Amino acid sequence: MLELRNIFKTYENKPLLRGVSFSVAKGETVCLLGASGSGKSTLLRMVAGLEFPESGLVLFDGLDLAQTAPHLRDFGLVFQDYGLFPHLNIFDNIAFGLKIRNVPASEIHLRVAALLGQVNLNGFEKRSVNDLSGGEQQRVALARALAPQPRLLMFDEPLGALDRSLKDDLLNQLRDILHKTKIPAIYVTHDVDEAFAIADRILLLHDGEIIRDDAPEDVWANPNSVHAARMLGVGNVVEGVVVSANKVKTDFGTFALTCKHKHTKNENIPLLIQQPPSPFRRGDGGEVEEEIQLKVEDVLFKRDQFQVKAGGGLVIHMKDAPRVGQIICVKVRVECLA
Ligand code: ADP
Ligand code: MG
Repeated sequence: MLELRNIFKTYENKPLLRGVSFSVAKGETVCLLGASGSGKSTLLRMVAGLEFPESGLVLFDGLDLAQTAPHLRDFGLVFQDYGLFPHLNIFDNIAFGLKIRNVPASEIHLRVAALLGQVNLNGFEKRSVNDLSGGEQQRVALARALAPQPRLLMFDEPLGALDRSLKDDLLNQLRDILHKTKIPAIYVTHDVDEAFAIADRILLLHDGEIIRDDAPEDVWANPNSVHAARMLGVGNVVEGVVVSANKVKTDFGTFALTCKHKHTKNENIPLLIQQPPSPFRRGDGGEVEEEIQLKVEDVLFKRDQFQVKAGGGLVIHMKDAPRVGQIICVKVRVECLA
């Protein structure tokens, strides 16, 4: 379906995208996760035809889109700020793309009603954009994008302006709609929870490159790199010094080193310290479980467990709250990220 091939772009003489390649298959929702300023919107604008790469290709069904004007690409876009037409009512906002395609009026009425049903806004046709809440406006924007039955949908941080509870709700509905309609989608966000709530596949954009392209459960279980672990906030990334062929020393103790690479003595290597059990772990032998002792420095309640900050900056999670100053024993998994 959609394929980006080796996209390069510089902005003010600084490389922004350095050979980005990925594809989106039919019915698949791909989440592009990256820090603010990493080039996510730039990539979407290239797919939409509003911006062009310096080199590289944007293809759809194998055809190069370089000469295809944005309005002829049949792609839908949903932005953070909804982008609805304020002077048009809900019906006319959703009908807009159908009217310019000369769809007969009777059919437009049926389609708009059906779309409003799909986004849980039955009967909203006559309402004004200005009377709607942010969540409702975003549903209208989604209905408007779905109306012309696009070949691809793009979402650029669409829920950025909404509350957490509303976000979860909309994400579930959006996931449902995308899977039912089988429209392939690229969903761009810097929010890890949001990405994992909707993605069939996760792409991590870091420093102009896709550093990971995998199923959500695989990315989560095996971040495989310092940048990925940091972006996802998985475990603790710490530095270790190799003390012998199979031992690595850290501020938290000396651990057995199991790693595919050969490391030399005194080499500094990044390690991931995580708490088991981690349900998706493949158990491919790249990690070892050890017990470490930590001094509790701060305790914070997070959702259904306590987040404990310990000496040396290590963060762990516990079901029961320890006291500040207490020495605790924690089982951890240590693996090499080099
Ligand atoms: P993201 O969507 O990941 O936050 P963007 O694609 O919007 O990132 O922008 C990436 C970087 O490129 C930003 O640092 C921005 O300053 C710069 N940039 C790219 N295109 C433009 C533009 N047309 N105008 C201003 N800044 C731009
Ligand atoms: Mg952006």
